[in-house]
Amino acid sequence: MSQHAETAHPDLLTVGIPTHWYNLAAELDAPIPPHLHPGTREPVTPADLAPLFASGLIAQEVSTEAYIPIPEPVREIYAMWRPAPLIRARRFEQALNTGARIYVKYEGVSPVGSHKTNSAVAQAYYNSLDGVRKLTTETGAGQWGSALSFAGAQFGIDVEVWQVRASYDSKPYRGYLMRTYGGTVHPSPSTLTEAGRAILAKTPNTTGSLGMAVSEAVEVAAADPDTRYALGSVLNHVVLHQTVIGQEAVEQLAAVEPGGADVVFGCAGGGSNLAGLAFPFLREKIHGRSNPRVVAAEPSACPSITQGEYRYDHGDVAGLTPLLKMHTLGMDFVPDPIHAGGLRYHGMAPALSHTVELGLVQGVAIGQHEAFTAGIQFARSQGIVPAPEATHAIAAAAAHVADDPTEQVVVIGLSGHGQLDLPAYAEFLDGNF
Ligand SMILES: *Cc1c(COP(=O)(O)O)cnc(C)c1O
Repeated sequence: MSQHAETAHPDLLTVGIPTHWYNLAAELDAPIPPHLHPGTREPVTPADLAPLFASGLIAQEVSTEAYIPIPEPVREIYAMWRPAPLIRARRFEQALNTGARIYVKYEGVSPVGSHKTNSAVAQAYYNSLDGVRKLTTETGAGQWGSALSFAGAQFGIDVEVWQVRASYDSKPYRGYLMRTYGGTVHPSPSTLTEAGRAILAKTPNTTGSLGMAVSEAVEVAAADPDTRYALGSVLNHVVLHQTVIGQEAVEQLAAVEPGGADVVFGCAGGGSNLAGLAFPFLREKIHGRSNPRVVAAEPSACPSITQGEYRYDHGDVAGLTPLLKMHTLGMDFVPDPIHAGGLRYHGMAPALSHTVELGLVQGVAIGQHEAFTAGIQFARSQGIVPAPEATHAIAAAAAHVADDPTEQVVVIGLSGHGQLDLPAYAEFLDGNF
């Protein structure tokens, strides 16, 4: 990337890529409730987080600035695939027989095929500034593990990944991708950590969960001063990094739709791609420039917004992470092993939960059959096979325009492609769910 920095026209490379990350909370009247220390239940301090996270990321976690500059080395890596396209989905509109104008913001163009790289690159960069040698992390479907493995390779950092057992077994291609980038991958729960051994002793046949995998990755990072931990969603700094999606989309849409968006849909697992897309649209709303609704599509099998409680809870099963104020099904909740592995998380980003509480975002739960039905319809009309996670957003948007046939502008976050998820599509086509 230093080579890019030295090219004669570096500005050409990064044209159209945001220069700042956007922090919606800084512009809201009520701040996001602070994370609490798991022992004392007092607000966590930067010193509490220092064993786990890079100093630059900790500063972002508690930042009250509305705009945070994106370091040039990060923008130059973003330029390998950003700006991501905003696509008018005309053929999908025809398939739905709707008068709505539907636009999809497509994050599948990243090297690993999802939005996760937007934060992975930033996290690897700030860890490299602190001289960190290794990052540990969890992954559900394997998108985050492959994104962090890619980002680690960019900055010379080793990456060790605990992948939820159900996905490790059913999605081997993601593991191959992590290893191709130089990462190491273990199924979770594993016998490599105390947390993993304790879970296996109690439930030897568990399909695993993101909460379990987080416990394992955090335990390993906390025990080694040269190792830190990276989280692929949920935390404020991750949400912040993802706001490149929405800032680009607001600008791209303005070129063709002067009135802006009427409704924005995204799938929500930990909340990062939806918040990253929606918060810049909510910025337009709070500044009175447009009036979009935002809808979070979550799986019926793991409905933290529509069925969970809004309270403090741990991010992991072992209770090692700070307490986060969020919509949660409880840290022990183990969702059914649905194909959208990236949506199997018991909680929701505090930043997104906060906007739900403020009435800026509404949740809707979508069943797996309905999600894949919409995914197939989208693939047959537009050609892009959506990631199973993203099919939830597409299904929610399809149901919305069926109910409300008025002329309107709909934006859908297409968080990734599903080309490594084709076995799940085959199962659906075979009538297995
Ligand atoms: C991880 C993932 C998700 C869910 O995570 P969020 O933090 O809710 O964005 C959604 N879509 C894809 C493609 C993913 O990889």
